[in-house]
Amino acid sequence: MAKLYYEKDADPALIQGRKVAVLGYGSQGHAHALNLAESGVDVRVGLRAGSPSAAKAEEAGLRVLPTAEACAEADLVMMLLPDPRQKEVFEADVAPHLREGDALFFAHGFNVRFGQITPPAGVDVAMVAPKGPGHLVRRTYVEGGGVPALVAVAQDATGKAHALALSYAHGIGATRAGVLETTFAEETETDLFGEQVVLCGGLTALVQAGYETLVDAGYQPESAYFECLHELKLIVDLMYEQGISGMRYSISDTAEYGDLTRGPRVIDDRVRGTMREILEEIRSGRFAEEWIAENEAGRPRFEALRRAGREHPIERIGSELRAMMPFISAGRQRLEDVSG
Ligand code: NAD
Ligand code: MG
Ligand code: MG
Ligand code: MG
Ligand code: MG
Ligand code: MG
Repeated sequence: MAKLYYEKDADPALIQGRKVAVLGYGSQGHAHALNLAESGVDVRVGLRAGSPSAAKAEEAGLRVLPTAEACAEADLVMMLLPDPRQKEVFEADVAPHLREGDALFFAHGFNVRFGQITPPAGVDVAMVAPKGPGHLVRRTYVEGGGVPALVAVAQDATGKAHALALSYAHGIGATRAGVLETTFAEETETDLFGEQVVLCGGLTALVQAGYETLVDAGYQPESAYFECLHELKLIVDLMYEQGISGMRYSISDTAEYGDLTRGPRVIDDRVRGTMREILEEIRSGRFAEEWIAENEAGRPRFEALRRAGREHPIERIGSELRAMMPFISAGRQRLEDVSG
């Protein structure tokens, strides 16, 4: 049975009684630091010397310290650095300042699940992982809502790790939306699977393949773009608000019949087999090994693939069409403003 926690289940005083260091001021970092500060928590942001984010954090009214100093002051450290950088920063700047009874928090279980970071005994190790981008963690909090989150405890040294994690989740607004109890392994494996197979990898490959199929068959790239990419938001918004059945209620019967009969032919048994293979690569640690090695090598393959993605024809046609729809980029501007 899944356990879900809401506002009444958390004690805000626990996190308000701690000295919190938020390491990193990117997507998640800015949202956690600002939400916690506005929830009455004593927050400092830890950044490396010369970080371009320092000025932004200071402008937003936060105290900024070099990473090691922030950790020395703090009794709770939240790791919001890019996952591949965390091991190095943990060893140099975090571990030397962890005292018995301190807490080490993560927003994703990668480094603990795959053995990159092994926190010392005597320290609480927990995760508060928002299930949404940092910009939404910030925006929904400001609007009085929140983004759902997962909580997990990997090491309970004080007997209070779980209550502390819920209190932290309350401080960033997550208990307003719902906080689901999980484990580091479940969060890490399902997060990687979701982004690889459905949310990012599966979706972008589906959009590009649909676009290419139409263009190769002689249709206008503009038509292919509107059909395979632009309309996606409408469909996803309906699914987000009302589930798949609610979305199907809003589309035509012709669309719904095509969905029900053709969808399973696109995502057929071969594709499901590939999904299971990808899940196995995650669970066995092979994906983690590959990604860590790629980072150690200076990310040559990642950068080449990134470049190729940016050069896909759908990007050029898309930027021309979006330039004619300034209301779309107005939405984007708003996200950037909120991120400070
Ligand atoms: P990010 O890339 O947006 O930001 C990272 C920050 O760390 C930046 O401020 C960067 O300047 C700083 N930084 C980089 N290298 C550093 C170093 N060596 N020393 C100190 N600071 C350094 O990262 P993010 O997407 O916010 O991810 C942070 C954590 O949150 C990760 O564990 C990620 O898995 C998790 N997470 C992210 C999201 C998301 O939507 N982005 C959602 C849930 C969980
Ligand atoms: Mg300390
Ligand atoms: Mg995710
Ligand atoms: Mg992820
Ligand atoms: Mg249509
Ligand atoms: Mg209908």
